[in-house]
Amino acid sequence: MTNRPWDTLSKEEIKQLQENFLDWYDEKKRHLPWRMNTDPYRVWISEIMLQQTRVDTVIDYYYRFMEEFPTIHALATADEEKLLKVWEGLGYYSRARNLQAAAKQMVADFAGKMPDTVEEIASLKGIGPYTTGAIASISFGLPEPAIDGNVMRVVSRLFEIEADIAKASSRKVFDEAMRKIIPKAAPGDFNQALMDLGSSVCTPKKPECPVCPLKDFCLAYKDDKMTDFPVKTKKQPPKPVYYVAAAIENSQGEFWLVQRPENGLLAKMWTFPLLKIDETHYQQLKTGFNKEESLQMELLVAEEDKAEQVLPFEEAHVIWQKRHLGEVTHVFSHLKWHLLLFYGRMIGGEAPEKMPGQWVAKDEFSKLVFPKPQQKLVEQLDKNRRDNKVF
Ligand code: SF4
Repeated sequence: MTNRPWDTLSKEEIKQLQENFLDWYDEKKRHLPWRMNTDPYRVWISEIMLQQTRVDTVIDYYYRFMEEFPTIHALATADEEKLLKVWEGLGYYSRARNLQAAAKQMVADFAGKMPDTVEEIASLKGIGPYTTGAIASISFGLPEPAIDGNVMRVVSRLFEIEADIAKASSRKVFDEAMRKIIPKAAPGDFNQALMDLGSSVCTPKKPECPVCPLKDFCLAYKDDKMTDFPVKTKKQPPKPVYYVAAAIENSQGEFWLVQRPENGLLAKMWTFPLLKIDETHYQQLKTGFNKEESLQMELLVAEEDKAEQVLPFEEAHVIWQKRHLGEVTHVFSHLKWHLLLFYGRMIGGEAPEKMPGQWVAKDEFSKLVFPKPQQKLVEQLDKNRRDNKVF
């Protein structure tokens, strides 16, 4: 990029920009639980939770997490199941696992403390440039930028930066611009001011420029081009994936649950048995099984009658309800899961042979870690039960 408007700012202008902004932050800053002090553990945990998750949602999780794991040491030695249970519902579970891995690193290499140099902070598992910048500036007063999507939006408008924010290589442009304006005396407040401005004033669609503390310096505002920035190429939509989900109940009112593999998406979490199918098959099941207007529960599979079995679970001992219980969808960053929920009763209470797992009573569900799609399936099952739509 040849055009670098931040290089044309005089020292006085930069000083003025910083003062305006920090005054605004003093007056308007959000009072959030992790801002009570600048303890690096609090900053770290909150910043990891805030990735991909709204502040309102994070607050309760943050309190619960701090209660369960008040120190780096407590986190390092926590039982993984318990850790994931506390994280349940926040999604992106690798974040929780990385937190624990980094806590172990700190115990092993840094006497159980968060290190205080940029290089060492960045060497911790799961801590990328943004979180490094946030911890370094807020907790240790180092003039490091913390650049996330919100900050890129503000800074791209401030300087009319045309670099595509979807590209990792654009980051260095924002890094350069930020290093020019971040004050050495209050880098943490400055970074947090940017985070707050991005979420409250310099919003994606309707920035409230007249009340913005940066308006006197903002090129996009001057040119009335606010919504032209940031420049971002369209992301590929998440790839659809189709599953049949089976809520299989035995005569004791227990459900068959399976644990996902050690690695990969939703590793080691519990779900109803899921069977991946192609879209055509999925749509056939979705419409074909829903034609029945009457809620009379017709049985799809007669006892021991394998030949009639239509659902793609090769189980001889399940009687499936003809009508499916509805569809649940869940979007991950790169995938969109479509899950069609079916209900089946075990005959004789034997375990489904081809789906290794265990029987779990409904009131014991809360003891296992369920990913969001499974939580939605359980809600869907409960809803059908309340409406008397389960046979
Ligand atoms: S003046 Fe408007 S576009 Fe510029 S930083 Fe402020 S809110 Fe954003």
